[in-house]
Amino acid sequence: MNEPPSESSSVLSFPCPRCGHVHDDEYEVIDAARPTDWRCAACGNMFSVLLTECWHCAGETLTVALSETEQCIASDVSCRNCGRPGLRSEQTDCEELAG
Ligand SMILES: [Zn+2]
Ligand SMILES: [Zn+2]
Repeated sequence: MNEPPSESSSVLSFPCPRCGHVHDDEYEVIDAARPTDWRCAACGNMFSVLLTECWHCAGETLTVALSETEQCIASDVSCRNCGRPGLRSEQTDCEELAG
């Protein structure tokens, strides 16, 4: 058994929040901690993808939302790797949109 390291294991996949079509960030175009606009290849609608990196275990969690405004909820996201909250805890940009 001489398996080469699987590069595909680092590819993040996420579903379209409108139609459920699964996309891969195979080119790693998504910036960490910044909502990124993504166009669904299946239904043609834009949605927002947020990549957060856990500061406890460095695990990556991808959150999708219908729009960047709704993506602010992701500040409450829990790490899917270790289950601990607190991602982006130092960012308060979303408070401006709360009102
Ligand atoms: Zn779609
Ligand atoms: Zn974690």
